[in-house]
Amino acid sequence: MFQEKNEEDALHPVQRSAGRPDTVRLVFLGGAGVGKSALIRRFLHDRFEHKYTRTVEELHVLEYDTAGSGRLRLEILDTSGSYSFPAMRELRIRHSDAFALVYAVDDPASLEEVRRLRGEILELKGGERASITVVGAKADLTEAEGRVLTAGDVMATVEDEWGANFVEASARTAGNTVGVFRALLHQVELPHRLSPAICRRRDTLPRPAVRRRPPLKKNHSCVLS
Ligand code: GDP
Ligand code: MG
Repeated sequence: MFQEKNEEDALHPVQRSAGRPDTVRLVFLGGAGVGKSALIRRFLHDRFEHKYTRTVEELHVLEYDTAGSGRLRLEILDTSGSYSFPAMRELRIRHSDAFALVYAVDDPASLEEVRRLRGEILELKGGERASITVVGAKADLTEAEGRVLTAGDVMATVEDEWGANFVEASARTAGNTVGVFRALLHQVELPHRLSPAICRRRDTLPRPAVRRRPPLKKNHSCVLS
């Protein structure tokens, strides 16, 4: 069942009775062209586009009524891969609950960028435990098609040295795209039954949800009951 979200709801989120905040933000960071938007698009719309469209910054908002525990606003922030102002990236990092650090399996430099981003997150989040999931995107690529990074090697670094989650996924084939979101939702202690099948039934509303945040472009709403 859909539930339309109006402006007032967005500006005055319903208070949750449990300790969990009523808004949870996941942010996708990583170099340009690694496949961040494609993963999000596959999860939300079950679509894939070969054509590359550069993202400026996009905030997807999903709203759920979780049975028994009230309303939940899930924000998925898709970033450009490069910020002209480092202060802006800092702000995004400070205001996010869980991080998908995305690299492409055919681009070793993008893994270096993930390493750098992890360092920045740890620094900015200070003593707080940072919820990081490293995502090897374009997992459909074979060696002949340009894959140079193997899952085993990266996993060893990410899981053993960094103590972070690791998943590989392909937005093109949809392989393990759900696994990316399952890992992120798990890190913020949300049930992974916030599944794409349910999200696909989202409603798209014409107006941005929060006027205070200009980059908002999309606004989806769906209800879990
Ligand atoms: P972003 O800049 O990180 O958001 O990257 P995009 O999601 O826009 O993807 C950049 C390019 O990589 C596009 O041309 C996509 O079609 C392609 N791409 C994205 N995901 C995959 C994937 O899983 N497999 C393959 N083979 N190509 C992908
Ligand atoms: Mg993008």
